Amino acid sequence: MKIGILNVQGDVSEHFQMVRRLHQKYGVEPVNVKELKDLKDISGLIIPGGESTVIYKILGKSGMVDRIIEMAKSGMPVMGTCAGAIILSSDTGDSRVTGMNLISITIKRNAYGRQINSFIKTVDINGIGKFQAVFIRAPEIESPGRADVISSLDGSPVMVREKNILAMTFHPELTGDSRIHEYFISQVISTPS
Ligand code: GLN
Repeated sequence: MKIGILNVQGDVSEHFQMVRRLHQKYGVEPVNVKELKDLKDISGLIIPGGESTVIYKILGKSGMVDRIIEMAKSGMPVMGTCAGAIILSSDTGDSRVTGMNLISITIKRNAYGRQINSFIKTVDINGIGKFQAVFIRAPEIESPGRADVISSLDGSPVMVREKNILAMTFHPELTGDSRIHEYFISQVISTPS
């Protein structure tokens, strides 16, 4: 089973390595998604964190947006982390980034301040448990819309899921803890192709 990692900008290689680490256990294989043809044959897609304005611009030119939306709407699991969550959202409140509207969250970019205000906090995730979450210039989910909140921090949702779309405002690829990737992969495995 192939898991695509959107390779446009941001921490692509960390997600790639995490999925590769899980190859033996789940039979998954990471695939770099750089252009339209790379979307062929993938069963799930990860949209990494980085800079959402940059990802949005490059992605728009790549011709992949409509195809990703189509695949997600027909049930392919997609996981967006940090900037990836912004890209998946329905409202960013920022004219420089229009979300794909694949999850009905309203999200605010850089809600916790600048790079220097990055932090690590332990969060409790439904179905996973305590997790060291790394927040880097993180956005805040102002409204979860119709998504289920699976983890919150100080009253704000930090991880949400709406059907086949999973979004979080932190970076699960940076801690060496693979449980969130395993959670996503289990979702991919249980999705009929
Ligand atoms: N602040 C970034 C943005 O708005 C997201 C940060 C991240 O992905 N670590 O795109």
